[in-house]
Amino acid sequence: MLSLHSTTLLQSLVAVTLCTGTLLLISSRQNRSETSLFYWGVANLVGSAGLVLLGLRGVASDRLSIDAANAMLFLSYMLNWAGMRRFCNRSIVWPCMAAPSIVWLALCQWPAFYASVEWRVAVNSAMMGLIALASAGTLWNLKGERLVSRFPAVAWLMIHASIFLVRIPFALSTPVPPGHQIMASPSMTLMLFEALFHASIMSFLQLSMAKDRAENRYRMAAETDVLTGLPNRRAFFERAERAVAAATAGGRPAAVLVIDIDRFKTINDTFGHAGGDRVLVAVAAVIRAHLRPDDAFGRLGGEEFGCLLADTSPTSAFVVAEGLRHRIAGLDIPGGSDGRPIRVSASIGVSALDSRAISLSQLLDEADAGLYEAKRRGRDRVMAADGGLRRAS
Ligand code: GH3
Ligand code: MG
Ligand code: MG
Repeated sequence: MLSLHSTTLLQSLVAVTLCTGTLLLISSRQNRSETSLFYWGVANLVGSAGLVLLGLRGVASDRLSIDAANAMLFLSYMLNWAGMRRFCNRSIVWPCMAAPSIVWLALCQWPAFYASVEWRVAVNSAMMGLIALASAGTLWNLKGERLVSRFPAVAWLMIHASIFLVRIPFALSTPVPPGHQIMASPSMTLMLFEALFHASIMSFLQLSMAKDRAENRYRMAAETDVLTGLPNRRAFFERAERAVAAATAGGRPAAVLVIDIDRFKTINDTFGHAGGDRVLVAVAAVIRAHLRPDDAFGRLGGEEFGCLLADTSPTSAFVVAEGLRHRIAGLDIPGGSDGRPIRVSASIGVSALDSRAISLSQLLDEADAGLYEAKRRGRDRVMAADGGLRRAS
């Protein structure tokens, strides 16, 4: 009964690893920037071949069904670990890749080891468990990226590694009688069942992690201004609206700045479009460096930038705006072929949410009115439409 189960399980496992390997390889063709999918696909196919050899126990020679089969399974696990390292932007440790297989093949040359099923199972489990643990550790240490499927993948790899490691004392304490059919043993049936589960769950999680990363990249691209790298208008509005709602709900102050580069058309006319672009990149870098991580900012369009300063009083908003204006005026941007630097200035309109319940668009309108006033009065200055705010300036 158990023998039937283990054979069926082994055949199912071969089919599953073959299918998941092929699917991972197809996905790697569709998502060429994610090379880990390729390694994971190859790992499953190598694993599948190793399992076929394992199934030839009693039919083919032991050298093939024990030595070569397990060497291929170790290589498959190492390829999985390599894929995990690639996924986590780490280099593959190529000299280590074949090490477990070589150690295994060397141990198989030792007659005492080869004759002991207990020791073969123990060493096999230890190496498999450690490789799975290394994969979990690599994934656990991936920082700075929000991937929903990363935590289930780490958790499952830890469980998988634990199953192998827990198997070691059991293997060593349960003597196997000579001539015993190890493939038909209950422990092997359990391990095959777990492997079937592992192959399905891990491939699903690997594909999910690649999908999560691709989605993050698309979202990032959709929210980022290509030229300056700042959040674009839509992203700025989303973040700023959330910040205004939070400030209104908490009765905390907030301020809006609208920054517009002065006479930008003249800069484009004098230094060319490329010169104008360099100015936009430099001004964006000043804004990013000068503001706090909690402030929302972005390119509203053309040569206009918006900032929402959280927990900032009108007086502090003017100090921040003046700081930005000074830094922009101090920029030394490489000009055209004649080596002349591009000098720029900016006008900034300010509005504030101080114990008023107004929307972001109203705040932007008020800041725009301040900006208009700043332009009208000769540019290179910070202004607010509101009389009280102007006094603070
Ligand atoms: P003001 O001092 O009144 O703000 O005058 P201005 O010339 O800065 O303002 P205006 O709005 O008349 O001109 C903005 C120019 O910005 C027009 C447009 O061609 C240029 N522009 C918009 N987007 C880009 C861009 O991505 N790169 C470059 N180089 N120029 C851009
Ligand atoms: Mg302008
Ligand atoms: Mg403008």
